[in-house]
Amino acid sequence: MAGLSLQSVRKRFGETEVIGGVDLDVADGEFVVFVGPSGCGKSTLLRMIAGLERTSDGRILIGGRDVTDEDPAKRGIAMVFQTYALYPHMTVATNMGFPLEMAKRPKEEIDRKVAEAAKILHLEAYLGRKPRELSGGQRQRVAIGRAIVRQPGVFLFDEPLSNLDAELRVQMRIEIARLHQELGTTMIYVTHDQIEAMTLASRIVVLRAGRIEQVGAPLELYENPDNSFVAGFIGSPR
Ligand code: ADP
Ligand code: MG
Repeated sequence: MAGLSLQSVRKRFGETEVIGGVDLDVADGEFVVFVGPSGCGKSTLLRMIAGLERTSDGRILIGGRDVTDEDPAKRGIAMVFQTYALYPHMTVATNMGFPLEMAKRPKEEIDRKVAEAAKILHLEAYLGRKPRELSGGQRQRVAIGRAIVRQPGVFLFDEPLSNLDAELRVQMRIEIARLHQELGTTMIYVTHDQIEAMTLASRIVVLRAGRIEQVGAPLELYENPDNSFVAGFIGSPR
């Protein structure tokens, strides 16, 4: 497990600054939710934490270690995307074990970790299936399983439930809350769904045009939004 620290993190694409100096400390085991309008930089921020995108300026610390210039594979982070990005020709078990396969882990270890993840996610009965033989919710669980097998210190979720219908979204939201309780791992979660943000977060970070507008516990933001922009995202009725 690991905490996370963002220190004056900036990102420019050419002349355009899309992240304008973000400072944030996330405690070990916290569940932090990022909300904000489309294009405000949520995915870019996650991608920088994951190391899929370089920072233009600032530092990123994971578990107290400066990882700003470190390879994604060494950061102890796993990311779950909106599009599950499963390999269609591989079984559920092979998809889930793939990151360990790539890391050349021994077969016994891969089998054991896949079995453990399948148990947590109630996928034991589906390990031999192909992705096309699964429902959307099951596919997203496989994508989460692929993250779990890596035993990351931090999980990053980029709108993981956006492609699911309303009923499945509620189910998966409950599963993600349970996963957090069970694993106790730090989670950073991007969503545009207010209910997801309110129910999952220990703290919500409201982003606007690449900067933090306000940070606080869900009820704190709900009852005391600094401005109408924050109120618009957290939904306090006034
Ligand atoms: P969000 O996830 O909040 O919708 P993004 O992080 O995807 O926002 O994008 C933030 C801004 O950065 C947007 O204006 C987007 O067009 C821009 N952007 C993202 N990736 C790139 C890129 N690779 N090159 C240029 N601009 C980009
Ligand atoms: Mg995005």
